[in-house]
Amino acid sequence: MQTSSTITSVWQRLRNREVTCEEALALLVNPQGNVNLYLLDREVSQRFLREFPDPRNLPPVVPLLLWRNCYYLGCHQTLPSEQIQFLTDRTFSDIKIVPISSQSFRSWFHTQNLDPTRITADPIVNPLNGEHEAEDITQVTEIYLSKAEDQISRIRTIISGALRNRASDIHLEPTPEGLRVRYRIDGILRDVTMLPPEISRRAIVALKVMSNMDIGESRRPQDARIGEQYTAGQDSLGLDMRVSTLPCVGGEKAVIRLLPRRNPFSNIEQLGFTPQALSIYQHWLKQPQGMVIFTGPTGSGKTSTLYTTLQDLATEHVNVVTVEDPVEYILPRITQTQVHELAGMTFAAGLRAILRQDPDIIMVGEIRDSETAETAVRAALTGHLVLTTLHTNDAVSAIPRLKDIGPDPGLVSDALLGIVAQRLARKVCPHCAAPHEPSASELALLGLERSQINPESWRKGKGCGRCFNSGYMGREAIIELLNIDDAMRQIIYEGTMTQLHRYLAETSFDSFRRAAIEKVTSGVTTVEEVLRVLPHSALNRHQKKATVATNGALVR
Ligand SMILES: [Zn+2]
Repeated sequence: MQTSSTITSVWQRLRNREVTCEEALALLVNPQGNVNLYLLDREVSQRFLREFPDPRNLPPVVPLLLWRNCYYLGCHQTLPSEQIQFLTDRTFSDIKIVPISSQSFRSWFHTQNLDPTRITADPIVNPLNGEHEAEDITQVTEIYLSKAEDQISRIRTIISGALRNRASDIHLEPTPEGLRVRYRIDGILRDVTMLPPEISRRAIVALKVMSNMDIGESRRPQDARIGEQYTAGQDSLGLDMRVSTLPCVGGEKAVIRLLPRRNPFSNIEQLGFTPQALSIYQHWLKQPQGMVIFTGPTGSGKTSTLYTTLQDLATEHVNVVTVEDPVEYILPRITQTQVHELAGMTFAAGLRAILRQDPDIIMVGEIRDSETAETAVRAALTGHLVLTTLHTNDAVSAIPRLKDIGPDPGLVSDALLGIVAQRLARKVCPHCAAPHEPSASELALLGLERSQINPESWRKGKGCGRCFNSGYMGREAIIELLNIDDAMRQIIYEGTMTQLHRYLAETSFDSFRRAAIEKVTSGVTTVEEVLRVLPHSALNRHQKKATVATNGALVR
């Protein structure tokens, strides 16, 4: 990729008599009709467009050259003679039409309407039909980067591309070939472009300037949090970014985590609960007191589930208070507090302070120590609904983990309403989904017989331009739910983990396996994806087989 400032335009070369008009056109438009946008001259466009104060009157043309009082205009269609006359009258010039591809017109149109100094999440619109375009992420980013005239505009252009493509993180990695730019989309990193080596270092420095980092220091890691504005349609929205740098071989690597301030949480129904799990979950939330634990590793979506739930609970009639480390999103109608260890605001201290503030619903970001665990469990037994998280692999493991941290097992068993474990699975891309005949090994992995399923509802994405040929678009939670009943309370109080596992194997609880079967048999996701995201034990553990009705729905 070359930058516009380093190239002499073909128009300039024509004016300097370095090339003839025919040679100039051949340089600008190849035999396939593709226009080399880097070689166009901005002044030709500006002079031409100046004659058309309302560009909506213009046919889809790209001003290529102005030579001897004649505009050479690229167009992918034949223009009627009255339109040519209209262009001639307005410009007082002759008009010659050069055939080009419609793709070239669209690319040129996008660069004309781009302001690289702003961050925007607006989708790319096809100017010919007004529809949203499936963007070739690499091509669009490179065209846009070619328009950016300074390093900060380049960084903003890269951030805009990430927002448009639903990316959660941007990786900027020094390599001998240049600065590799990758986006994390639906949990997976994708190569987007490579900045040339001569500007790699300067782009990282520009990012450090934007983030108020020490630009003189490149031997130790730095991190910063910055706020920016970006536009989406008519709205100007806040965007928080967590930027971190890491000295590595070849320079400094930077990672930008994007946290748009627009409330990203939908409602509980859209999180991915199966209908039966949802009704159990909502029953817990109606209880006046008790504890609900959310488990899962970083990136499992448990924070989204927790925040969506809090948002649903926060009505006029209740006082909802949180203690978090850190506060990631600001939610309406909720009092959110943040841990600050140095100031003495620990989880335990925060929780004690909250209990003096007449709370109804309390969210404790994480239980890590015995004091927090003890206080949270007691709060859950004295008229408060307590929501919290623990780092465990599945729902069942939360029980020994909580007992290890320390509260009295009798209190834990009394306080617990239930445990949620989850993972995010990519959904089959709606644009390229096709029916998929389940293979014998796929059925075996889920522990299903062919007679139990309706193979017509299975789907798989073929891969298309909109999903980066992955066959997946968007994600949804696969949720395991452990509803604490009286028998389980007894086992938690005085039994062993072996007894607990045996009990669960005998009853049919809403396990990962059951949730995965429901998602795969209804065509939401695939067996491959389930295997990628679920803990390995989830599909292997011996469980009573679920039965599936012929319509693909699970029957208990
Ligand atoms: Zn697709």
